[in-house]
Amino acid sequence: MSNFRGKLLLVEDEPAIGEALHFNLESEGFEVDWKRDGLTAFDALCSDANRYDAVILDLMLPHVSGLEILARIRPLAERLPILVLSARSLDADKVKALELGADDYVTKPFSLHELILRAHGLVKRGQWSRESQRNAIETFKLGSAEFSPGTYSVLAASGETIKITPTEMLLAKTFASNPGRVLSRQELLESVWQYSSGTETRTVDVFVAKLRRYIDTSTGTSVIETIRGLGYLYNPTPGTAS
Ligand code: CA
Repeated sequence: MSNFRGKLLLVEDEPAIGEALHFNLESEGFEVDWKRDGLTAFDALCSDANRYDAVILDLMLPHVSGLEILARIRPLAERLPILVLSARSLDADKVKALELGADDYVTKPFSLHELILRAHGLVKRGQWSRESQRNAIETFKLGSAEFSPGTYSVLAASGETIKITPTEMLLAKTFASNPGRVLSRQELLESVWQYSSGTETRTVDVFVAKLRRYIDTSTGTSVIETIRGLGYLYNPTPGTAS
């Protein structure tokens, strides 16, 4: 396949949606391994998560739920990009999935075009992660935390070393490269998630909240300030005007 884009694990129990995704993603150059229930998906990930470039995971599945798969797989495969699909539009489920380590979230019904764009973004982030590991890209600081793209870890402000996902690393890198500049949620979606539908800004908020847990000490203001109505700003010296 000359236009091979990467290998995806698709976990979807609804035949019509699964077939449409399988067909369209393969037409886009992805190789798709389609699993129809949570248990076989879980087995496929446990036996070798590294064979996949990204996962598209439905939440409501027979046998093992998508949230359960996320909770168990994320600690074993922190670099695997995961996009969650769900019919539930409840904000709580979305936040829960992101908290458990999903990189992105799409609520059904979704447009195929939109989903394919996101799949490309997911796979690109995974590739960025492998490249940065190979090239051992220099460590960088955000607040008092030190990020190491080569090992996908952060020496947090708490003194703890924590493994993080490529999406978290890329978001940290984006802030670190733009001190003193207001970054809108839109801009962050474009540079990190590589799409700008404008509807998923909540995703950005959940990821910024995660980042703050690594970079801020428990006291004092965050080095990533929320600028009301505009977005976020990395202020390396919080408490002072930037
Ligand atoms: Ca389902």
